[in-house]
Amino acid sequence: MAEALEADFVVVGAGSAGCVLAARLSEDPAVKVVLLEAGGEDRNLWIHVPLGFGKTFADPRVNWCYETEPDPGAAGRRIFWPRGKVLGGSSSINGMVYIRGQHEDFDLWRQMGNAGWSAADVLPYFRRAEHQTRIRDEYHGQDGPLAVSDVAEGHPLCEGFIAACVEAGHPRNDDFNGARQDGVGYHQTTTRRGRRCSTAVGYLRPAMKRPNLQVITRAHTERVLFEGRRAVGVAFRQDGVARQVRARREVVLSGGAIGSPQILMLSGIGPAAHLAEMGVPVVHDLPGVGSDLQDHYSAAIKLKCALPITVNDVMQSSVRKVRTGLEYLLFRKGALTVITAEVALFARTRPELATPDVKFSIATFSADRPQDGLHPWSGFTLLVYQLRPESRGEIRLKSPRAEDAPAMRPNYLATETDRRTIVAGLQMGRSLLASPHMQRFITAEYLPGPEVRDEAGLLEHARRTGGTVFHPTSTCRMGSDPRAVVDAELRVHGVEGLRVVDASVMPTVISGNTNAATIMIAEKASDLLRARAPLAAAA
Ligand SMILES: Cc1cc2nc3c(=O)[nH]c(=O)nc-3n(C[C@H](O)[C@H](O)[C@H](O)COP(=O)(O)OP(=O)(O)OC[C@H]3O[C@@H](n4cnc5c(N)ncnc54)[C@H](O)[C@@H]3O)c2cc1C
Repeated sequence: MAEALEADFVVVGAGSAGCVLAARLSEDPAVKVVLLEAGGEDRNLWIHVPLGFGKTFADPRVNWCYETEPDPGAAGRRIFWPRGKVLGGSSSINGMVYIRGQHEDFDLWRQMGNAGWSAADVLPYFRRAEHQTRIRDEYHGQDGPLAVSDVAEGHPLCEGFIAACVEAGHPRNDDFNGARQDGVGYHQTTTRRGRRCSTAVGYLRPAMKRPNLQVITRAHTERVLFEGRRAVGVAFRQDGVARQVRARREVVLSGGAIGSPQILMLSGIGPAAHLAEMGVPVVHDLPGVGSDLQDHYSAAIKLKCALPITVNDVMQSSVRKVRTGLEYLLFRKGALTVITAEVALFARTRPELATPDVKFSIATFSADRPQDGLHPWSGFTLLVYQLRPESRGEIRLKSPRAEDAPAMRPNYLATETDRRTIVAGLQMGRSLLASPHMQRFITAEYLPGPEVRDEAGLLEHARRTGGTVFHPTSTCRMGSDPRAVVDAELRVHGVEGLRVVDASVMPTVISGNTNAATIMIAEKASDLLRARAPLAAAA
């Protein structure tokens, strides 16, 4: 018989948010915390080496390797949706780009009725999380668990791109996470001395020494247990054995934008008609669960490079691979320190916009699909995505069994604005690549190819070859309207003792990569759960 488990707080999912929560909640020795994770420990070596991103990208030992339903917006294709299934969750397999979003994103959350989530309210939590290695100013923190450092070294393609953007009139920006996001510059990264800083590394590992924190891996949560309308624990399966853990105070779902709505629906909280169709007894009819899914859909221009300076070239040569390995081991430099995309431009497709609506980034490698390996020739990629898409999709159950992945319907490029923006982005990207600063590197445009010129052709290219940049959010959206799932304190509407804390609660997807904002949400949630006064908003 497995031991009876009980804790004050039961946190489900040890991802970007769950590790932060478990670490912060267990700071109080009087509070017992159990953290359940479906995946295993983060022992895989490739998790910790930045370029190892390519190795974990489609490895089912650490990754859920989801696929969407065939999506009309993506020419009827299923889109590969990696998600971390390991301690650290997606922060253990992500691209390590550190971007917070625009101040206006959070002010919009506040304007939508979510008290406590304005830019000024959330800044102290971004700062509390951060251990920034370069910048000392009012936007950054130095004492947090999450290492944020600059890319290890510049690259000729990145320098060329920066010069092309500056020539086109874009400002140089050495801190996308400071006063403003506009402009071109190098990303900051969640790495420390050439190694990935996931939330498992930054937050959870140090906290695991505490006797009041119990981390249970390979524990697949199947549903929340209720007494009446109060959540009192969860049922999970570990190595085929059904187990339960009781929560004296609260259950917190941090299963991510796919996992959390799936667990809610399996537990009887969701659109009543859909639950009835799936044979799940309804605890509370909450139509917004799994609805309002947002994601960043990207389109790429892939280039053949004139010089053997790309990651593709390193991977083609045994001699260079050995040299790269030694360079990394000895100096923490070279191709193994490369993150997904090192340089970015935040820009407007229309001058009348108040803030940037597209992000461009340069990846110093190219592939048809990353999961199939890199091209065997020198190549690099210019990627563009719309920062605030209007299209909304949904997550729905496919069966009442927890082991079956739910249906993911992103509904990409469903609105005229979204279609126009991705096409305008591709056009802008091409004009930047036409600069002599980039032309000296380019022998040919591999995709979409020079024959694709008009808007219809570019849209077709986006539909046929585009993909996610892995930022699904808003499937348990915060708010007070009838479709909202959690309130501004992240409590699930209509029941007691249950919160959701992860990327799924974002009222709208932020204008950029989603890891930093998810960690901020968990930092703030830990104060809400401990009933502590919010950190003072920035002056
Ligand atoms: C390949 C990839 C690249 C990315 N690149 C970047 C980037 O460069 N920069 C950036 O800012 N963002 C990036 N992101 C996005 C970012 O990492 C995510 O937005 C963020 O990690 C989401 O955090 P979360 O806590 O919501 O979910 P996750 O971190 O995904 O955590 C959810 C956890 O819950 C667990 N779980 C789910 N269901 C269950 C269940 N039933 N029982 C038990 N456990 C369960 C999962 O295994 C997982 O560990 C990337 C994501 C991916 C996948």
